Amino acid sequence: MSKYKENKLYIFNTLNRKKEVFQAMNPPHVGMYVCGPTVYGDPHLGHARPAVTFDLLFRYLKHLGYKVRYVRNITDVGHLESDADEGEDKILKKARLEQLEPMEVVQQYTNSYHDSMARLNVLPPSIEPRASGHIIEQQVMAEEILENGYAYESNGSLYFDVIKYHKDYNYGRLSGRVLEDLISNARELEGQEEKRNSVDFALWKKAAPAHIMRWPSKWGEGFPGWHLECSAMSSKYLGKRFDIHGGGMDLLFPHHECEIAQSVAATGKDAVRYWMHNNMVTINGQKMGKSLGNFVTLKELFTGSHKLLEKSYSPMTIRFFMLQAHYGSTLDFSNEALAAAGKGLVRLMSTLKVLDRLEPGGAPGSLDIGEFEKKAYGAMNDDLGSPQLIAHLFDTSRFINSAFAGNDSITAGDLERLRHLFGSFVSDVLGLTGEEDREIGGLVSKLVDLLLNIRLEVKKKKDFELSDRIRDELASFGIEVRDKKDGFEWEIKG
Ligand code: ZN
Repeated sequence: MSKYKENKLYIFNTLNRKKEVFQAMNPPHVGMYVCGPTVYGDPHLGHARPAVTFDLLFRYLKHLGYKVRYVRNITDVGHLESDADEGEDKILKKARLEQLEPMEVVQQYTNSYHDSMARLNVLPPSIEPRASGHIIEQQVMAEEILENGYAYESNGSLYFDVIKYHKDYNYGRLSGRVLEDLISNARELEGQEEKRNSVDFALWKKAAPAHIMRWPSKWGEGFPGWHLECSAMSSKYLGKRFDIHGGGMDLLFPHHECEIAQSVAATGKDAVRYWMHNNMVTINGQKMGKSLGNFVTLKELFTGSHKLLEKSYSPMTIRFFMLQAHYGSTLDFSNEALAAAGKGLVRLMSTLKVLDRLEPGGAPGSLDIGEFEKKAYGAMNDDLGSPQLIAHLFDTSRFINSAFAGNDSITAGDLERLRHLFGSFVSDVLGLTGEEDREIGGLVSKLVDLLLNIRLEVKKKKDFELSDRIRDELASFGIEVRDKKDGFEWEIKG
């Protein structure tokens, strides 16, 4: 079971900008924290990438025999519209626009997120804490930072003193930002006179009278700053020092930089041993954004209901498409690329079925099973090389199909090993599942449409007997046909 002992897993640690061998602090246990969504809208492509990336890591660590405690949070308070502690809380704004209680917004979009993640076959995390459920933990941590001299109170709010921190430690070492540049580039924003310096960030914000999401504290009624929840919740569930922290590259600065500063200011030590970041998603070569009209939600992808989409794409196609690229590269979505991924996925999944039905041939054939195993693990051990793993699976698919056609052979022992290896890499590690029901569903639609189009021609030729027979026989399978002036409509009536 403990394959982790014989596999050296290299991962790119953003903190050192190097590929390093992953060594768990307390094997077989691994603690892993990933920043989850701020739940004020349906999840979009930008949410799918980190979810699939860290699901791949979670699955592979478990495959190697680690016991992983995977914590992925839900941000339901404190994430303001601007990174500079300005603007409305994103949840509150949505609640105001939709005339809902803020926690109704949180519940609705948490459900929506869970639903889309389940369809992408993303495993649920071990713990999914919410920021609003950890106000006390955040206050305690803010207090520690204050006591250590790295925060100050101002008009009922509490700010992190970046300049003071930078004198003792190094602010900016994760993102590579230089503090002097940050200070000189900062714009003077309204309401920032509370801060000693524009680069300081809020640990606790005083709530304006109209702000509903508020909690009592020794600094007055308010709410926590966005960055604080991840520091407080990761240390609560994973300890003051833990193995892996992940998230999208867009969170490197300021969010993760501030997380590091908070942990170091509170405890004197770095909390995270390995920082990992997935790269961004683009659409037709452009950054995704509401103002660009290319903001595609996962629901829209699954149903094809967005003007940029030529058709719907199944959740597994989207998962497979993401896994075909390395998580550290940008990933461009286009109809062509998704269609190609869909075809690749069908090929791979059909190989899995062929493998089930393949009979051993007695004689060893052209497959070197040991070599396949080495390459598959080698790909994953090289910073989660899912594209290379998929390429090796396709190479082996060619052998499987050739053996099934009788042009190659495999011994019974090798076949058993191949089934186990191929199956666990496809299903357990890559998390790909068959979509045969959906595929068959698509085929049924095409066949019914074909039959009804033939029926239209039959009717034009006045062969009403045959036309009625087609309709009645379809009805006997539970398919109800309604004739329209310019065609037909049909539905399955159970
Ligand atoms: Zn976070």
